[in-house]
Amino acid sequence: MKNDELIVQAKKVYAENFPLETCFERAIFFSWHCDIRDCAYCFMSTQKVDDAKPKAVRSAESLLAELLICGKLGWDVGFISGGIGAFGKGAFTDLLKKMHELSGEKFWLNIGALDKETLKEYAPYAKGVVGSIETVNSKLHNKVCPSKPIEPYLEMFKEAEKLGLERAITIILGLGESEEDFDAFKEMINTYKISKVHLYGLNPQKGTIFETSKPPTEEYQAWWIAKARTTFPKLDIQCGIWEDRVDRISTLLDAGANSISKFPALKRFGTDFAKEIEKQAEKAQRKFNGTITILPGIDWDAEINNLPFEDTFKLKIKDKLDKYLSRMKKNQNKE
Ligand code: SF4
Repeated sequence: MKNDELIVQAKKVYAENFPLETCFERAIFFSWHCDIRDCAYCFMSTQKVDDAKPKAVRSAESLLAELLICGKLGWDVGFISGGIGAFGKGAFTDLLKKMHELSGEKFWLNIGALDKETLKEYAPYAKGVVGSIETVNSKLHNKVCPSKPIEPYLEMFKEAEKLGLERAITIILGLGESEEDFDAFKEMINTYKISKVHLYGLNPQKGTIFETSKPPTEEYQAWWIAKARTTFPKLDIQCGIWEDRVDRISTLLDAGANSISKFPALKRFGTDFAKEIEKQAEKAQRKFNGTITILPGIDWDAEINNLPFEDTFKLKIKDKLDKYLSRMKKNQNKE
């Protein structure tokens, strides 16, 4: 089937299974540290880290301020993520508990392959687990993720299912896979009852083997989304785009994506890129829930006061929040 016909079919399947809406999904990252640092496409692999120095981990107040913004602006939280080994188990449980107290939500966790005991500890605050599979082509996977084998993630999926947690995977298109790998992708979704898929495109990083590679084309990313949509009508499909690819969003939504991620929405809030995303949703006849362009009139002080934390901690969150909001307002006014 030609791409155009596949997309027409995928659009129809989407409309039969979901409301004609979309939204921005924010992945909340808690660190720039990773113990592995050898995935061939990853920025972290280019970083020299002095192990004697403290790990580059964000403060709880900064993460909670971001979470508050997500909730108030109508952004879904895609997942909580960070480099492997950035947090100890106890510290991460405490963070999740605070995030849950602030938002009342449970979260998708994308923090490596978790064992049974760890899953049990995080389960009260977790909606599901995300396996950063990146490519289902096993030969390619060995090459691009030499220290991040797939099998532990598959084990995690089995344990997560026993605990009643949902399962999701991330895939980066453009690493060297092809449409022929769709069958392996389909098998993984069926075998592990995956309910959500993040279909990103390669963002070539300086200093990696992909530095001079081209990102996947709009047609190719749309093909994967449309093929996934028509094969799995109820699958939650998220398309990842960077700011250089906002003009492809309407095609990716037509192909059956539910939501949009990877756009740096805090830094680029209110910019022309953000406006284009909302326009693209309209072009695809989807209502864009929430906003990435206009700060709503919110009494942020009252929001901070209402948080279920001690006053000194609330002040720290407010301090971070003010910094984020001030940048967002500046962008908005500039544009
Ligand atoms: S595990 Fe994640 S953060 Fe670490 S090198 Fe691989 S892709 Fe990068």
